[in-house]
Amino acid sequence: MTERKQLTTAHGAPIGDNQNSLTAGRRGPLLMQDYQLLEKMATFNRERVPERVVHAKGSGAYGTFTVTNDITRYSKAAVFSEIGKQTDCLLRFSTVAGERGAADAERDVRGFAVKFYTDEGNWDMVGNNTPVFFVRDPYKFGDFIHTQKRDPKTNMRSSTAMWDFWSLSPESLHQVTILMSDRGLPQGYRFVNGYSSHTYSFINADDERFWIKFHFKTMQGIKTWTNAQAADIVGADRESSQRDLFEAIEKGDYPKWRVCVQIMPEQEAETYHINPFDLTKVWPHGDYPLIEIGIMELNRNPENYFADIEQAAFEPSNIVPGISFSPDKMLQARIMSYADAHRYRIGVNYAALPANKPQCPVHTYHRDGKLRFDGNNGGAVNYEPNSMGGPAEDQRYNEPPLKVSGDADRYDHREGNDDYTQPGNLFRLMSAGQKAQLFRNIAEAMAGVPDRIKARQLAHFYRADPAYGRGVAELVEMDIEEMAALADLSLADLFHKTCEENYQSLTTGSPLPAPGA
Ligand code: NDP
Repeated sequence: MTERKQLTTAHGAPIGDNQNSLTAGRRGPLLMQDYQLLEKMATFNRERVPERVVHAKGSGAYGTFTVTNDITRYSKAAVFSEIGKQTDCLLRFSTVAGERGAADAERDVRGFAVKFYTDEGNWDMVGNNTPVFFVRDPYKFGDFIHTQKRDPKTNMRSSTAMWDFWSLSPESLHQVTILMSDRGLPQGYRFVNGYSSHTYSFINADDERFWIKFHFKTMQGIKTWTNAQAADIVGADRESSQRDLFEAIEKGDYPKWRVCVQIMPEQEAETYHINPFDLTKVWPHGDYPLIEIGIMELNRNPENYFADIEQAAFEPSNIVPGISFSPDKMLQARIMSYADAHRYRIGVNYAALPANKPQCPVHTYHRDGKLRFDGNNGGAVNYEPNSMGGPAEDQRYNEPPLKVSGDADRYDHREGNDDYTQPGNLFRLMSAGQKAQLFRNIAEAMAGVPDRIKARQLAHFYRADPAYGRGVAELVEMDIEEMAALADLSLADLFHKTCEENYQSLTTGSPLPAPGA
């Protein structure tokens, strides 16, 4: 048996008794001077950091990214510099809506956030297991998340809020279709693909820019549960995804993903028929095929969940030379909001925590702040410019200029946007079994939702594909003719007709009042 270490206070003083508190007499009361008890209780009170507002429940592991294909003509990033090059990484999976104690086997999008500890700084690819998202303008993000969280009055999740918001936001249809499909309820994190969803950019050594999307294809295969199977799983095990991932890695069955990119030359963005910076759209593989760049393997469980996963902080703003942003409005907003959330949740010095600390040297003029737990750069010069030999910029790391044009304004993000073709394409590629499951999942998720909201959403399904609308309408017992008539209306008329005070079945023949009437 190894010799046991002396138990101490947080300040290193040896502790003589960790069983009995200090009391005046055998029966108490406690003495105020029992600082060991006070320190223990006060530290316990502060054990939790605020949970993430979204993606609170997560699992993660360390691993390795290995380059398998030469893409140096597209990106000068050190991480891709040669075939066979390996880079350490940390991957955190999550569910989105549930709190930290939520069950894993729930219908939800899965977060897929990777930190690559590259030679030129940390590169974070903070994606999901879906290639698109519910909204395309960040102004709507907080509203959307409120519909996924608890109702302010009932403190329960509200299907009415979800379908009300989605049906008033047709750009969500693509993601709603994925969420309600078989893939919306994965068997575990090993069985999901990851997508950057956003468009990013590559920059090569000649300063040429390419627009790109990242795809991480699971090599374990896609595996999913039905709602009924998941209900049994949750009843038996709320940590099913955590357990599956942890145990696979413990026994050496390391999960792997094939890392691929789609690449679009910079100029093509101006003429391509889809806005390549719209987060609700994919780039069809037929137009931009997947190009493999490497293999990612997870092969080390965290030694301490809190230190390695709860304190891990991923942010799309972490880019490195050769990999950069795009004009995607959602990405632009996330560049601010992730780092901002980390500063609030785990403090301004979060980048120095072991899970977030780059493996390359870090030289900044940032100083002080709460919980500055490293050496705070000692006596080194803390201003710039200086003539003391402090760290200096290098213009070789500047990006080529990005052309932007247009008037600054609040542009209607729905104008001229086709929100129906891509969800329809997805529906049409599903097998009959997958379609049946999609209809059933939607019908179950719509239980208790008012008819006028169901009718509004059915119009969107019908527009994507009449068979999609009909399949759901039959299960939720809504009128198919009414759905087809609503699908013919302009969005303004559809919203107007289905608002609380105006909704009457079109089949009653009541005239449709004009919007604003
Ligand atoms: P493709 O036939 O080339 O690709 C279809 C893609 O759909 C495949 O990647 C497949 O993944 C994926 N898929 C199959 N079932 C589902 C599901 N239930 N939920 C989500 N994805 C699924 O066609 P296109 O590239 O033209 O895309 C057609 C539609 O496929 C798109 O509108 C989009 O909805 C969806 N899709 C497209 C992606 C893209 O980047 N182009 C990525 C993912 C989905 P797998 O290969 O693993 O079976």
